[in-house]
Amino acid sequence: MAVRIDGKAVAETVRNEVRDKTVLLDRERGIRPGLAVVLVGDDPASRIYVRGKKKACEQVGFLSRELTFSADVSEQELLDVVGSLNRDGDIHGILVQLPLPGHINSDLIVESIDPRKDVDGFHPYNVGKLFSGTSYHMSCTPRGIIELLDRYQVSIEGKEAVIVGRSAIVGKPLALMLLARHATITVCHTRTRDLPEVTRRADILVAAAGRPEMIRGDMVKEGAVVIDVGINRAESGKLLGDVAFAEVEPRASYITPVPGGVGPMTIAMLMVNTLNAASLIEER
Ligand code: NAD
Repeated sequence: MAVRIDGKAVAETVRNEVRDKTVLLDRERGIRPGLAVVLVGDDPASRIYVRGKKKACEQVGFLSRELTFSADVSEQELLDVVGSLNRDGDIHGILVQLPLPGHINSDLIVESIDPRKDVDGFHPYNVGKLFSGTSYHMSCTPRGIIELLDRYQVSIEGKEAVIVGRSAIVGKPLALMLLARHATITVCHTRTRDLPEVTRRADILVAAAGRPEMIRGDMVKEGAVVIDVGINRAESGKLLGDVAFAEVEPRASYITPVPGGVGPMTIAMLMVNTLNAASLIEER
């Protein structure tokens, strides 16, 4: 039976470490990290995420600022808001909650963030620098996955890693991060031929497709480490991962549950990035 990777507990440990370092940063250098979250419209999921981020900021002792706008805000107005946050000395991290309404060019908004304050790691500068391993900030969810593997002392080097899903926020950046850690990478997507044949090769299998329970027991090699990124809401309201947990758990060596696996790590890594941003910006 697999070891269940407890993302909730690891996230708490990470947040506690951030809180301790925040106390030190304030004591030694008089810096209190500040995170600004920009929320547009009233998407219920976005509101929940933003609330979670605010709560985490309070727990670790950051200054948190929430800027909310109605769905009809203009692109220029948002550009101006980001511009003023870029210049704001109290704010070290800026996060624009996506998705934005259709009339706003999200790329343009993300690109207007100072890359040093881009704690989501979505700015093309940080995405590009991921290739050389020298970005200011790395995307939080894939970074959280690496952190989970490290905290459970799962070795990555030389392993066959298969990622199902090639999105810009999970699959692609994770592929680069695992590659930097010397894994051999395969990235699968909707047009992958014979997916089970590929997933069965994985020593480390990451499911990030957004398809409830698509990874069945017979798609997983005996002893594989299985990381489930998926968050899917069943009609009953229950949260389902991309992995059929009951079938896969007996075959895996390690497995993340949903909820309580990768999910809590995303916000924890956002706190880490914001703390790093505060050190980075003040050092200039
Ligand atoms: P996305 O829709 O942008 O990308 C999904 C990817 O999966 C695509 O590349 C697609 O080609 C691939 N895919 C879809 N169906 C497939 C199939 N049947 N076979 C092979 N590949 C398939 O999704 P995303 O934003 O990367 O999110 C993926 C999942 O992870 C979602 O459930 C999302 O809710 C969840 N998620 C969780 C967190 C977290 O904090 N835990 C963060 C981001 C996303």
